[in-house]
Parts: sequence; C-alpha cells; structure tokens
Amino acid sequence: MKRKQFLQASTFTLAALTLADHKSFAHFFADPWKIKMLRNDIGIFSERGGTIVFMLSKKGLVVVDSQFPEQAQHLITELKKISDKSIRLLINTHHHGDHTGGNIVFKGLVPHVVGHENCLLNHKRTAEQQKSIEKQMFADITFKETWMTKIGKEKIKAHYFGPAHTNGDAIIHFQQANIAHMGDLVFNRRYAFIDRTAGASVKGWISVLDKTLATFDNETLFVFGHAFDPEKVTGNKEDLKAMQNYLAKMLQFVESEIKSGKSKEEILKATSIPGVDEWKGDGIQRGLLATYEELTEAK
Ligand SMILES: [Zn+2]
Ligand SMILES: [Zn+2]
Repeated sequence: MKRKQFLQASTFTLAALTLADHKSFAHFFADPWKIKMLRNDIGIFSERGGTIVFMLSKKGLVVVDSQFPEQAQHLITELKKISDKSIRLLINTHHHGDHTGGNIVFKGLVPHVVGHENCLLNHKRTAEQQKSIEKQMFADITFKETWMTKIGKEKIKAHYFGPAHTNGDAIIHFQQANIAHMGDLVFNRRYAFIDRTAGASVKGWISVLDKTLATFDNETLFVFGHAFDPEKVTGNKEDLKAMQNYLAKMLQFVESEIKSGKSKEEILKATSIPGVDEWKGDGIQRGLLATYEELTEAK
C-alpha cells in the first residue's frame, strides 16, 4: 500500500470506530481527563486548564473552578455517575478563562457562583474586551477578605490575601478535610503567568504566600492550578516555599540586573534565574518582563 492510501485508510478506520463504538474506541485511548480522590470525599479533576477541586456530600456537591466548556461537561457527566445530589455551589479561584470558561455549562445546575470581588470585575472586563459576555457565568456572591459556608459536615472558607497572580486570587479551604485550593497562586515547578493587566504583583505574591504559610498547618493538602509535572498538582508547605523562593529569586535577579545598568532586552535574554533550579517550562520571559515592569513602573 502506498503511504498516502495507508493514511487515508487509517483515518477512515479511526472515524468509523469513533462513530460505531465509542466505548471500544475508549479502550485504545484513555479518557483525556483524570479524576483522583484526595480525602473526605474531595477529589481533583484534570484535563485542560486549571485543576478543578470537587466535593461530594449527602447535602450536595461543590465545585471549585471549571476549566473550559468541554472539560466542565466531562466533569459534570462524571459527577452524575458517582452522585445523584445536586451541585450546590461553584467557586472560582480567579477570573482566568482556564478556571471560569466552563462556568456557563453549570448554568441552571448550580444556584450560586462565588468569587472575590476583583475576580468578578476582572471576569466582566475581560469578557467585554473579548466580546464573550454571553459565554460566561459570573459570580453572584462576592467577598472582600473572607467568605464562609457549611455544606454537610464540611466548612468551606475562602481567603483573600491581596494581589499576587492577579488582584483577585482566592484560596478555597475545605476545613474538615484540610484541603486548600490555591488556584494559580502556585505554579508547581513551572514558570508562572503574572497578569499585570489584572493587577498582579510579584512583591504582593511573595507576601500572599507568607500569609498562606501562616494560615494553614503542616497537615494541609494544597491543590495547585498548574504544575510542570501533571502528577504534581497537589503538595504541601514545602511546595509553597519553593514557589515563594522562585518569585523572590526572580525579583532579586531583575532588581540587580537593573542596578547594574542592563536594558530590558538584555534582562529578558536570561535563560535561567540564579537560585531557581527546579522551575521549568516555557514562559521564563513573561515572568521576567512582569517583574521588570513592576520594578520600573512610575510610582
Ligand atoms: Zn490557570
Ligand atoms: Zn490564572
């Protein structure tokens, strides 16, 4: 068989298989998403976008973040298989599309969406800019510093510690289970996105992590929005300290480069940051740029 014919034939087989028997097809390719239970009926869902946390209980379900519409639908389908309870609450850690894009799929399924007041402002502003208002579902419950509710045996508390990855990042703590969703306050071992268009601050981020370390204990299981190794979206205080070290070393590095007279272009050429060995991925430059802008902006 000629190569071209072979390609056509295999494409056809794949398509036929997909249509004819999706289940047997799925044996060849694992589901694109992954569900992992952590503890106390709380689990994580990962597919594309920021890690989702969900809680199962006899009194209803809670979901933190929603990835994108397709992923949110996958999650809801899976949740329906394991629980017949309704979804009581959707909480957003912050406004970015890989955390709120799937909100719309929860429309009619969940009575309330919770987010920090700046999360709502950022979400509305970016949706207006992208002309995608009708594709969004915005928070209808907002808060300034903390917000709390009780569902079944679990107390859920949202904390806001100030500007960091954006100016609206909340940490969602399931107190009984002692699981805290950090949203994008931790990019585990992966160069972070620092969204200055939404009020981010590297200096602020370092102090937010200080407050986080002071608030939670050594038993807290933290969930991270993103990780270089997809298996490492959960961790402990050591991972928070490592994240803080990356930010502090980046700040220190850019500061000293500016002092030694380097131009922005020269600083952005760096391919590593002294004292930051574990951080990987693309995007070292966007962090350096955000830090440079923060240090040189007119006060
Ligand atoms: Zn994210
Ligand atoms: Zn984000």
